[in-house]
Amino acid sequence: VRLAHAPAGFDDLRRPTVDVPLRVLVSGCLAGLPCGVDGTDYGLGDILRPLLRLPILTVRSFCPEDFAFGTPRTTPDIHGGDGHDVLDGNAKVLDELGNDLSAKMIAGAKAMLEVARAHRTELALLTDMSAACGSQVISDGSQKTNERRFRPSVGVATALLLRNGISVVSQRDAKTLRALRSRLDPELVQDAKARDHHETDWYIAAFGA
Ligand code: SF4
Repeated sequence: VRLAHAPAGFDDLRRPTVDVPLRVLVSGCLAGLPCGVDGTDYGLGDILRPLLRLPILTVRSFCPEDFAFGTPRTTPDIHGGDGHDVLDGNAKVLDELGNDLSAKMIAGAKAMLEVARAHRTELALLTDMSAACGSQVISDGSQKTNERRFRPSVGVATALLLRNGISVVSQRDAKTLRALRSRLDPELVQDAKARDHHETDWYIAAFGA
């Protein structure tokens, strides 16, 4: 299992200024775009809004699944591995109808990487639990079943970004996001109780500490 948590490279991020803002890539739905499989933002658009509005960030948003399949769409999930395995041809992305979406998912991931490169992205803030954007947890097989299973690993787009040296943080990584906010706004009061997704009770119960 290849975990993305303890976001690689996060501690090495430079201190941005208003003149030279931090270049951030954000999942489309986290930026409030209605690009989820059901044509909504999954209710995520407000979560990072205070952070993304800071003048010390410059933000690009992108949805690799919307790029690959359009919206609305069936639900892609990884079967038999994680995003790295899909990139290596050792696992497949299937939707709930059994269609093999692997090639298009990889194309969406590559398109996201191109956006990241064009933007010279320094940090990606991506939506966890997604077969494309997941950075802590993904579904293990179809999420459209009564007994949804999970895998502690990364989606296809996240795997490709990580392979290309881009740090990825999920919207559930409260501690890391708090640290980022305080780096950008030194007057922000720290929250000692904030935890990243892999430190939550749910995650530990599911996968262990
Ligand atoms: S692929 Fe990523 S950006 Fe698009 S809806 Fe899913 S989580 Fe959001």
